[in-house]
Amino acid sequence: MPSYSITTYGCSNNQAESEIMEALLRKKGFSAAPAEQADIVILNTCSVKNVTENKILHAARELQTSNKKFILTGCMPEAQYDVVKEVVPEAGIVSTHHIDKIGEAAESMLNGEYVEILGKARPVKASLPKIRKNPVIDIIPISSGCKSFCTFCSTKLAKGDLFSYPTEIIVDAVKKAITEGVKEFWLTSQDNGCYGCDRNKDITDLINEITSNADGDYMLRIGMMNPEHVVKLLPKLLEAYENEHVFKFFHLPVQSGSDQILKKMKRRHTAEDYVKIVEEIRSKFLLSTIWTDMICGFPEETEKDFQMSMKLLERTQPDFSNVSAYGNRPNTLAARMKQLDTAVKKERTRRMSDFVRGMSERQNKKWVGWSGKIIIDEFNTVKQTWIGRNFAYKSVVVKGNYSLGQSIDVKITDAAVSNLMA
Ligand code: SF4
Repeated sequence: MPSYSITTYGCSNNQAESEIMEALLRKKGFSAAPAEQADIVILNTCSVKNVTENKILHAARELQTSNKKFILTGCMPEAQYDVVKEVVPEAGIVSTHHIDKIGEAAESMLNGEYVEILGKARPVKASLPKIRKNPVIDIIPISSGCKSFCTFCSTKLAKGDLFSYPTEIIVDAVKKAITEGVKEFWLTSQDNGCYGCDRNKDITDLINEITSNADGDYMLRIGMMNPEHVVKLLPKLLEAYENEHVFKFFHLPVQSGSDQILKKMKRRHTAEDYVKIVEEIRSKFLLSTIWTDMICGFPEETEKDFQMSMKLLERTQPDFSNVSAYGNRPNTLAARMKQLDTAVKKERTRRMSDFVRGMSERQNKKWVGWSGKIIIDEFNTVKQTWIGRNFAYKSVVVKGNYSLGQSIDVKITDAAVSNLMA
């Protein structure tokens, strides 16, 4: 029986695609093995950040040097084809649009045939089989691609235009997974905010279809939504979020507090749009979780632009923000703009990251004294503690004798930057 190993880089969408490839490889008779022993290694790649890409290329070079059969999947083969071919010409290639062919590709590579499968295709990934890493969490891809053209983004180069998967297929996937013991669903894509634009639907239709058709004890986590779409959907979206099966969790990447920079990024929303969204969420759901993303040091960002980003965080106080130093991605429009010094980017990123740590801790402290239910969804093997999620998807650390998927009552006694403690 041939064996495989998969290493996953990047976002939850990639995690979902690895779970799918795992199931397809097993169907073909492959068995899982550690990378050193596996007959074939799959690197499921990400092209969002330089640092991740360098790590991937380093791992790929080592595989090539050791004469191991290996395949690159994910976004890099589409977004960075030339780099991949130059650095690791022997790597098999199965782009993110063709993961449904991974079983056949792995067989061919092991038979000594070189495989390269590229180009836009439209498999409905929500209907493909999968082997879940976590038996109580199902990550469901709801679409591929997006409707935007953000100038810094290389994911767009790989994923292309929006292709939303049919609502009924996603609903069926949820219903089936509930019977298999899943308690949490992460609806994921490049931008959940534009889901359905190509089918005369929107994300609220999907949420409503799921919650009215799927019975059981489960929760939905709605992944990242570009504020550009959220601002238009607000009343409907907040109404859909009222459902008890929906985590009061919003991931709304604003990227900058300066409208000048947002324009250069081709983000089709303003900083005030984001403020309006946050205010309306909080007036409806006082206890909720808001995450955002910020880029520091985008080309031509002045100190004044940066201060506007800091002020936006101060004013809206999200629970958390991913903070990234801007990094040039080949073939993007932003890569052709006037770049800032690395030192400036680093220094702004550090200032913002420090601020975000304090802000997250302050937000979490507000939960001290809260009591309610959490679903246990993770075990920390190092600390021997369980992690659960409350209705706002806050992470709560508990000690005791529990099991995955169990629902328990807790009282929050303390809080830190990333967790609440009970
Ligand atoms: S919304 Fe913008 S950042 Fe997100 S995948 Fe699309 S182009 Fe990239």
